[in-house]
Amino acid sequence: MHLKWRQATLASRIVLVMVSLLLLVQAAGFLVVQRALDRQVAQEIQSALVVGERIWWRLLEQNAERLRDAATVLSADFGFRSAIASEDQQTIASALENSGSRIGASIVGLLDPSFHLIAANQADNRMADAVLHEIAANLANDRRGDRLALIEKTPYQFVMVPVRAPKVIGWVLMGFPVQQGLVDNLYYLADVNAIFYSPDKKQQASDYVSSLHDLTEVVIPGVLQQQSRLDVQNDVLITRYVDMNAMGGQLRLVLMRSSAQARLPFEQLKWLLGIITAGGLFLFGLGSIRASRKVTRPLKELTNVTEQLGQGQFNIAVPGTNSNDEVGSLARGFERMRANIAAQQDEILHLAYWDRLTGLPNREQFRKKLISSIENCRDAAKPLVIITLNLDRFKHVNEVLGYGSGDELLKAVSSRLLELVNQDNDIVARMAGDEFAIFLSSTDLAGAIVLTDRITKAFEVPLAFNDQTVDLSASMGVACWPKDALEADLLMSRSEIAMHAAKSKTAGVLIYSPSLDSSSLQTLSLLSDLRQALQEGELRLFLQPKLDTNSKRVVAAEALVRWQHPQRGLIPPLQFIPFAEQTGFVRQLTLWIFEEAARNWASLQLSDENLRISINLSTRDLLDHDFPEHLNNLLNIYDLKADAFCLEITESAIMDDPQRAEATLNKLSEQGFKLSIDDFGTGYSSLAYLKRLPVNELKIDKSFVMAMQKDESDAKIVRSTIDLAHNLGLTVVAEGVENQIILNQLKSLKCDEAQGYYIGKPMPVKDFNSWREYWYKNQNLLFSDF
Ligand code: C2E
Ligand code: CA
Ligand code: CA
Repeated sequence: MHLKWRQATLASRIVLVMVSLLLLVQAAGFLVVQRALDRQVAQEIQSALVVGERIWWRLLEQNAERLRDAATVLSADFGFRSAIASEDQQTIASALENSGSRIGASIVGLLDPSFHLIAANQADNRMADAVLHEIAANLANDRRGDRLALIEKTPYQFVMVPVRAPKVIGWVLMGFPVQQGLVDNLYYLADVNAIFYSPDKKQQASDYVSSLHDLTEVVIPGVLQQQSRLDVQNDVLITRYVDMNAMGGQLRLVLMRSSAQARLPFEQLKWLLGIITAGGLFLFGLGSIRASRKVTRPLKELTNVTEQLGQGQFNIAVPGTNSNDEVGSLARGFERMRANIAAQQDEILHLAYWDRLTGLPNREQFRKKLISSIENCRDAAKPLVIITLNLDRFKHVNEVLGYGSGDELLKAVSSRLLELVNQDNDIVARMAGDEFAIFLSSTDLAGAIVLTDRITKAFEVPLAFNDQTVDLSASMGVACWPKDALEADLLMSRSEIAMHAAKSKTAGVLIYSPSLDSSSLQTLSLLSDLRQALQEGELRLFLQPKLDTNSKRVVAAEALVRWQHPQRGLIPPLQFIPFAEQTGFVRQLTLWIFEEAARNWASLQLSDENLRISINLSTRDLLDHDFPEHLNNLLNIYDLKADAFCLEITESAIMDDPQRAEATLNKLSEQGFKLSIDDFGTGYSSLAYLKRLPVNELKIDKSFVMAMQKDESDAKIVRSTIDLAHNLGLTVVAEGVENQIILNQLKSLKCDEAQGYYIGKPMPVKDFNSWREYWYKNQNLLFSDF
């Protein structure tokens, strides 16, 4: 609202300023024109007055001419001359009378050569005798002239001609009253009013010879004061006073020109000018409104856009960017800003929902899609499946080959997965580090298993990048909606549980089942089953031989547990060990297997050769303060020494609580047990750290060993691990030896011991001695080149 007001005032302010500027200019122009007009009018009036005066004189002259002609006719009249000669008063008088009345001369007189009046048409004009004498004397010197004179308050024009016979015998003097007709004529000819008057005291309007008629009385006071301007009704009369140089009193002519009349033609011009000005102002006002709108409209639009930008809408285009004016460059500035912010916004969104390295959706996006898919599937009884996939030994690859290669590897994995997952609505996401997830929206569990098989197969082909190949495997966990969980987060965590179980069991793929999940009800029943198994003697000790690669002797065996279930048959340890670890039951299990091994130990020894038995420990054992004491008791019971055993501990077991683990390990080492790091390479710990521990042996994880034949980088890892271990004074054992080539490779790499299906599978303890017998008999036959 406030903004609108300001915009409105900006537009109206522009209009106001423009219009008032124009008005000012117009007014100034108008003023100049007005003054010029005034000057023009004044000049026009003055020249009209001058012309008027000239015409006045001309009229008088014409009058004089006429009078003179009449006087000449009279003076030339024979009868008249004879009458003068004979001094016939009667005849003279009648001739004067006749002649005067013929031409309208009021005064016609005959003067003697010395200008004394002899006779006159007006006998009672005695009083003017002196005046006439003076006039006549005056006119005698100027025969072509005429004289104005005031006689008995009346103005007259006089001319005089001589009467010759042939000598001058007299003068005819004619006086003609200056009358209304003359000023009317003047007005008619010159458009100038005039009053002919005597400024000597006069009272009556009739004493004035005026073309103003009724108005005469109004102007008389001004005229008497010789005012230059006379106010008359709605008009002003501009005056010009002319002294008539009369005789017998003063006579004056005032010429008057109406300024209104003079102004009249200019008045029209002024109107026209006014109309043009008004029209111009109107058009200019319209124009400036348009112009100001032209400025303010784009500004308004820009303001709207900035408001939208402020609300976070960055996909709108800024208007007016292609105009070349300042508003255009402002708009372009805005557009650049908008584009930058939009790009940043996209970048932020991308960071929030996409994985930078692989370009795959990230965990957040995966979760959102899963939630919305579950939402959409509520009614349709179509299952959804998610697969969580984690690379095996990725950390180690990362450390040995470098992080750059690790990144390349992850990218290669992501494109491999994308190739396999090609349904439209299916998603491959990178959840974290080396963990991926696949969401299948149109497949059931069977279809998911087919896909996991294809993934496993795809991983069998070594990944090639940066001139090297890496043999990689992955552990996968599968969970289905709605069977395993109804809610997205739970479903994800269940597929992760299945994946972790698959990893720890090196099972490749596992489908979620509550038995994998220590927190489920089913695990509780499994726990009671396991307790029962221990009590009822359903557990079996199996042994897997370990071979000294130098002496080719069977120097040790690993104790591996088996569960002979009355209904389910032989259950492999990966299906219950992780669970036993989670519930803590594994402590009883370790003690059981140790006791079982101890009990059988003596029967497994040859007279010239000792067999050391390796026992697997779990985190729980390491955290148990009394654990070394329990082992000690068992050693005492079976009268055995600690060095008859080796204890295998995984890196992760140590890392759960390194300080307590270290304390326990120190104790066990002090008691004389040999210690071995199991599954080396799958954890995150460095050799540098392990060196601090009282460890004697390193067991390279079977995944490296099994892959080293095909994969150079795995071979590299195995080689460098062996070298490092030797430098630290550790014995190296390779597990997972499945063929002779690998066994030979290990021997040449100076790996101390080997364990694997190629040498011997885990076997019931009672079968071990006969296997060893057979092995020693046939090994030269079986391994001729070893
Ligand atoms: P582990 O300690 O790494 O044991 C070696 C596993 O590798 C054994 O599986 C063995 O059968 C298998 N193996 C040996 N040679 C080869 C080979 O050449 N190729 C292949 N593919 N595999 C080979 P198993 O017996 O199924 O045991 C699995 C895991 O269960 C063991 O891994 C260990 O972590 C755990 N485990 C077994 N028995 C016990 C036990 O008594 N106590 C504890 N805490 N864990 C046990
Ligand atoms: Ca082991
Ligand atoms: Ca192992």
